[in-house]
Amino acid sequence: MTLNPWAGRSKNTTSVWKGPISYPPDHKVGMVVPLGGSNCKKCEYWTGGQCVNEIFKKWNGSGKIPTSPDRYCCDLFETSSKIK
Ligand code: SF4
Repeated sequence: MTLNPWAGRSKNTTSVWKGPISYPPDHKVGMVVPLGGSNCKKCEYWTGGQCVNEIFKKWNGSGKIPTSPDRYCCDLFETSSKIK
């Protein structure tokens, strides 16, 4: 599935990046990530133990992520307003 990572952004988000987006060959929309960086637990869309981003849910098939929320992230990540 082709995904526009900017399409699911909330109205409160402004992007400073205007150029093309490129990723390494092994990149996936959602991936297991190392502890300490951006992850679902720090994301605006992490609600009630699942992802509520409609674009992610469409790509993933549901809001359920495949591993611990502090070890997973996707292209639609937005820093939670609780930690801004
Ligand atoms: S990082 Fe991606 S999968 Fe995780 S909560 Fe945010 S939008 Fe959902």
